[in-house]
Amino acid sequence: MSHTKHIFVTGGVVSSLGKGLTSAAIGLLLERRGLRVRMQKLDPYINVDPGTMSPYQHGEVYVLDDGAETDLDLGHYERFTNSPLSRDSNTTTGRIYRSVIEKERRGEYLGNTVQVVPHITNEIKAQVRKLASPDVDVVITELGGTVGDIEGLPFLEAIRQIPLDIGRQNCLFIHLTLIPYLKAAAEAKTKPTQHSVGQLRQIGIQPDVLIVRTERELGRDAREKIALFCNVEKNAVIEEPDKEFSIYEVPLGLMEYGLDQLIVDKLHLRAGPIDMSEWAEHLHKVRNPQHDVSIAVVGKYMQHKDAYKSIYEALDHAGIAHQTRVQVKRIEAEELERQDPEVLLAGIDGILVPGGFGMRGIEGKIDAIRMARENDIPFFGICLGMQCAVIEFARNVLGLTDANSTEFSGEVPYPVICLLNDQRKVVDKGATMRLGSQECRLEPGSKAEQCYGKPSIWERHRHRYEFNPEYRKQFVEGGMNTSGLSPDHQLVEIVELENHPWFVAVQYHPEFKTKPGNAHPLFAGFIEAALVRQQQRVQLTL
Ligand code: GLN
Repeated sequence: MSHTKHIFVTGGVVSSLGKGLTSAAIGLLLERRGLRVRMQKLDPYINVDPGTMSPYQHGEVYVLDDGAETDLDLGHYERFTNSPLSRDSNTTTGRIYRSVIEKERRGEYLGNTVQVVPHITNEIKAQVRKLASPDVDVVITELGGTVGDIEGLPFLEAIRQIPLDIGRQNCLFIHLTLIPYLKAAAEAKTKPTQHSVGQLRQIGIQPDVLIVRTERELGRDAREKIALFCNVEKNAVIEEPDKEFSIYEVPLGLMEYGLDQLIVDKLHLRAGPIDMSEWAEHLHKVRNPQHDVSIAVVGKYMQHKDAYKSIYEALDHAGIAHQTRVQVKRIEAEELERQDPEVLLAGIDGILVPGGFGMRGIEGKIDAIRMARENDIPFFGICLGMQCAVIEFARNVLGLTDANSTEFSGEVPYPVICLLNDQRKVVDKGATMRLGSQECRLEPGSKAEQCYGKPSIWERHRHRYEFNPEYRKQFVEGGMNTSGLSPDHQLVEIVELENHPWFVAVQYHPEFKTKPGNAHPLFAGFIEAALVRQQQRVQLTL
């Protein structure tokens, strides 16, 4: 039996407390103490995966190397830790039930009535334990939702049982709650946290550590009161105040409250001293930028702060690489259809058009890309953004009037983006796109190759439509290079413009492979070009 220890992170009082971020920060702290960590999220909704959910419902869908479409919290895990993630790192009620029902049909429970307890709970426990192995010290399992949700109950019951199987001393329950500050009473209120812990205890889980999110620092007295009422040790109430600058401050804040040592002690882990110097260095750059650039992100779900989470993070990382504050102007693509792009995009140093689905806002994105192309504004297109760049070039440079993607219209005179054979016969919508890590070969001397500094790369995909290979020659002759191709030369993965300071568009999602101290090469290249543009702009106005 492996000696892997388990940490369970639950949330109470309200949703959106940043459980994913806190879990990732805990993972980072433990890794910096030399421990080998695995991260996992359990989502109680019934969808088999979040791949078919609208970004309005659940924010971005985060894609892993193996093509798993997962919850955006896994993005935090990858950006903060080195825990390898796979399909097994994100499980939902839908997946659990599917697996149990498949077993039932195969006759694996012959003779039994199949029930939530023990069959569903056993399946959940097996998913959690799957990540334990002799080369893993700690598995951190985050439970989605809020304590009290009906659909979360089987998961809580399952994690309640795990200490009975592997020993209480090998498990740690961390509960994250909110301590609201009531202005009228000039007081921080601990009652919702007490209720939330009470609910957990009714289920049979006594949290070992409470992490409380606060708007204002609580102070020792309030923490001691919470400890007493919630039945946890005084030093196990950790504050996580709102951060002013950056989410990358969270781990350092938790460390200051001694969270890493608390976990090491409670789980009897053999860990080294902590080294957060590199992390503190990134943070220093975030706090002390030397430059400012202004980047327009022209997309579709701009009011939802999580719809393009990884894009914003990737821009921040590129900013860290150049000690630059990246000011993002979120522009709803449809606005560009109503208002003059020159006005909406005034004072912008770079334009990024991210991925998306469906035709709303497409013409606005195309207008933004045209402006970038004609005015030498650095442009970065991602997935749908690349497809729009191809459509724009076809229409306005190659003269292919009404060129389009067959995603947006059945009758397209010039289908420059279309479905290729593999996708034509697909009927199911779930997990049937071109998904996951694929190799791409770069053209020597291209901007892409200069940024990456190597001839071959692996990047993650999530799309159905592709550049139509029938038009490739025409594009290249017209000045749009196909600078990244699949190894068999059939699929166009990158296009770029020859006579433009920086116009690169990619069919894949580079935003899923970036870290604060290791910015993605294309994002770094884009911000570098935007900095040049910004300096030119300053000189012109002087
Ligand atoms: N809708 C496009 C496709 O399916 C682009 C997808 C995306 O941007 N992720 O090909």
